[in-house]
Amino acid sequence: MKHSFFSDKKYWFKGNTHAHTTRTDGTCPPDKQVQDYSERGYDFLAITDHNVVDSYQEKKGICMLPGWERDVRHNEENTSCIHVIGLFPADACSMQVKEKPRYACNEVTDQELLDEMREDGEFVILAHPHWSRMLPEEVTKLDGFQAIEVFNAGCECLMHAGRADLYWDMLLQEGKRIYGIACDDTHGKTEKSDRFAGWIMVHEDECTAHSIIEAMTRGDFYATQGPEILDWGRDGNEVYFECSPCAEVHFITYPTRGTSIFAKDGEVLTKVRYTLKGGEKYVRVECIDEKGKSGWTNPFFSIINTK
Ligand SMILES: [Zn+2]
Ligand SMILES: [Zn+2]
Repeated sequence: MKHSFFSDKKYWFKGNTHAHTTRTDGTCPPDKQVQDYSERGYDFLAITDHNVVDSYQEKKGICMLPGWERDVRHNEENTSCIHVIGLFPADACSMQVKEKPRYACNEVTDQELLDEMREDGEFVILAHPHWSRMLPEEVTKLDGFQAIEVFNAGCECLMHAGRADLYWDMLLQEGKRIYGIACDDTHGKTEKSDRFAGWIMVHEDECTAHSIIEAMTRGDFYATQGPEILDWGRDGNEVYFECSPCAEVHFITYPTRGTSIFAKDGEVLTKVRYTLKGGEKYVRVECIDEKGKSGWTNPFFSIINTK
């Protein structure tokens, strides 16, 4: 019998969790940013300017998730650093303006920054570790963030440093329960647009900051650059996966190794299955469409028994 890994919530809400405006180092004024994402069909948006949470009014048709981006430099030249997104499960209209000075180089440790954000009740996302030039061991030793940006459009457009698949799998192999986010990190300064290129689809009954963060906390969402993930779950000793037409579907598992499935010439993949080997500590799926755009499920944890 099929058992979906998604909940039975009613709707899917589309949103970007990382965007900058003229309030800090972006090129788009906050009002226009909100309007543009709304017109583009987004259901929610987090404006995450550096060290400041501003009070943005609720715009018609889009829910604002209050958020910010914090960072610590590991050296004065800033050749290595940590950047972290914090999202608040609070109504944007009732949110107090919050501003903090940027930490000086090594003023706090990476872990202290994460702890501070978690204690504040934020949903914490490790941003673009490749752009930050974090070493794998600097990432895997950290605790307290709930998600990692598996795709960051801004860093990808800047210098091809927007992916974090390998960091994500290393964290998962260590047994950490980390979800994957695709986002824009909109600055508007790159040759190729860093807008509307990566987003998450959140499964919920209603679109409020509180309910979106709640769904994100239980991992009830997927990340994408375009492909739609319609359903996935378990059916006996198989994992089934259903998506909009794709050219490739990859099952990533540990400690067993997963598999890659490719569409035959002139065909597409919309429904595929993977037979579990047993003992999988996690299973996640990435599908890629004919334009090369990816979609990522969150990991499903602990398939111990395949009977
Ligand atoms: Zn950043
Ligand atoms: Zn940013």
